[in-house]
Amino acid sequence: MIRLEHVSKTYEAKVVAITDVSLHIRPGEFVFITGASGSGKSTIIKLLLKELKPTHGRIVVNGKDLGKISHKQVPLFRRNIGVVFQDFRLLPDRNVYENVAFAMRVVEAPKKAIKTKVPMVLSLVGLAAKYRALPQQLSGGEQQRVAIARALVNEPKILLADEPTGNLDNHNAWEIMRLLEEINKRGTTVVVVTHNMEIVRMMNKRVITIQNGVVYSDEEGDQEA
Ligand code: ADP
Ligand code: MG
Repeated sequence: MIRLEHVSKTYEAKVVAITDVSLHIRPGEFVFITGASGSGKSTIIKLLLKELKPTHGRIVVNGKDLGKISHKQVPLFRRNIGVVFQDFRLLPDRNVYENVAFAMRVVEAPKKAIKTKVPMVLSLVGLAAKYRALPQQLSGGEQQRVAIARALVNEPKILLADEPTGNLDNHNAWEIMRLLEEINKRGTTVVVVTHNMEIVRMMNKRVITIQNGVVYSDEEGDQEA
């Protein structure tokens, strides 16, 4: 569950990124956030991760009021959120398996759990056979699948994806979208920032459009499509 109540964010030097944004995303939803470059989409993602503090307003994620989470509680809070970015952000000198296992080691998961969970999540994203490859040996689409596997391996309730297909060709972009849809069907709340309007239109999901830092429209899709 994600709730923003009258949230505004002004950066230093008085750059207003978002103004009075209120949103409610229910558990299990698949939501697109779209809007022109600079409209405030990534700011919303960073606020949800508590990477940024809102200037005004209240943000609740997974039942936690972010204004009430102490610095020390942030890592634990973030365990319930998986994140994927446009530029993949993989460790270049570790193979696929290690990139995903790393996310479990960070949270001090038992070795046995890592051994069973990493192959499971790699096969979910269709990369079981490439577990020994280095990121540079993979296509962009495959690299993004590794990033998605890493984001999911600790079983977060929410997956946030900021322009996940921004560096991919159309074919790979669609494969990533189908994968995100499958992940959502398995119960994870999925929030995808994109300005690929063809994908947004064809996926037929809820679409929140941000324009100049305000919610311009919020339209339900036919979630069964
Ligand atoms: P989007 O992801 O929709 O392209 P952003 O949320 O990144 O938009 O940016 C919204 C606005 O805030 C833009 O005007 C951008 O220049 C500004 N902005 C983003 N990050 C910072 C920052 N760290 N410092 C100052 N201004 C920023
Ligand atoms: Mg952005």
